[in-house]
Amino acid sequence: MYKLYLKPGKEESLKRFHPWIFSGAIARMEGTPQEGETVEVYTSKNEFIAKGHYQIGSIAVRVLTFRQDEAIDKAFWMRRLSAARLMRQSIGLASRPDNDTYRLVHGEGDNLPGLVIDIYARTAVMQAHSAGMHLERMTIAQALQEVMQGQIDNIYYKSETTLPFKADLYPENGFLVGGSTDNIATEYGLKFHIDWLKGQKTGFFVDQRENRSLLERYAAGRHVLNMFCYTSGFSVYAMRGGAQLVHSVDSSAKAIDLTNQNVDLNFPDDTRHAAFAEDAFKYLDHMGDRYDLIILDPPAFAKHRDALRNALQGYRKLNARAFEKIKPGGILFTFSCSQAVSKENFRTAVFTAAAMSGRSVRILHQLTQPADHPVNIYHPEGEYLKGLVLYVE
Ligand code: SAH
Repeated sequence: MYKLYLKPGKEESLKRFHPWIFSGAIARMEGTPQEGETVEVYTSKNEFIAKGHYQIGSIAVRVLTFRQDEAIDKAFWMRRLSAARLMRQSIGLASRPDNDTYRLVHGEGDNLPGLVIDIYARTAVMQAHSAGMHLERMTIAQALQEVMQGQIDNIYYKSETTLPFKADLYPENGFLVGGSTDNIATEYGLKFHIDWLKGQKTGFFVDQRENRSLLERYAAGRHVLNMFCYTSGFSVYAMRGGAQLVHSVDSSAKAIDLTNQNVDLNFPDDTRHAAFAEDAFKYLDHMGDRYDLIILDPPAFAKHRDALRNALQGYRKLNARAFEKIKPGGILFTFSCSQAVSKENFRTAVFTAAAMSGRSVRILHQLTQPADHPVNIYHPEGEYLKGLVLYVE
């Protein structure tokens, strides 16, 4: 086993179970581990402190265990996956008859840094964000099959875009198990085509489930604009909630295609819905003041810290347009999924936008990611989704 020694004092965050070791904390290494291999980490006083996947980059080690006697073998993956499944079962999410769409593994939130697994009906979509998880994919897939006890037939691996460029791993997307083309999954009774072959993330934004469900409660009789609709999750919930009209907008023609398919799947021939492939800012400029329920769920404006200032400006501009145009008595659901943007930063951007419009605005709800995207208490960085529901007079 490769050994890696920390600089004096650099073990403090690990003592508080933080799962990352930054490259700057490393004093020296015994041996030359390849990217993705497992290393043991020792303090400057030669005491074992953690074991994890090594990678070249700012995060040098993603911790898998703080116990020296815990081997990283199939039994390990089975224990971690079972714990993840048990949590989803015990909160009622994995056992509802009207829902077979949920996140089974949320990286650090499930003590599996670098690994994401979403369940869509009888298919699991697995995504590696680290070289270590990529190398372990076959063992993880075997463990997953056993842990799911016959509830899945297919495991699709989708990591081409999530693996670091530096790791020359030739990742290929494809089925590790099974190969079904039946891609319809159910979320709280609504049906969605999940595009795990070409779609964003694992094919669907599982993380907005509870927020879509909340939106449904406010939709009755309203004129809804779902901006950045992607696969139209918010739109179909609004339709079920009794919206009078729903317009879905996304700059990607592919997203508009998926949107129309999903609306048809749930509400065939329903004339309340229309979808438009257009840039958000252009649409917001010419749309007039007909909407009284607006959803703004843009892509991550800041993928890195240095992009923070531009991102905040983006949120300000976008929200300012919505505040200017929304009908009196309207409700705005506004989100940020950028990890680099804090809750406070986002709030300030939205507040500034509200002030620019001069409207009276009240906060009805402060939203975040759902329970199947848990935040490891020792890894606050895991909190990424932020949302505000605002009543605009
Ligand atoms: N609300 C969606 C997820 C949104 S993802 C859901 O619940 O599933 C962000 C979407 O914004 C993507 O589909 C992307 O195509 C779209 N997008 C990115 N830039 C855009 C722009 N300038 N104008 C309109 N849509 C844009």
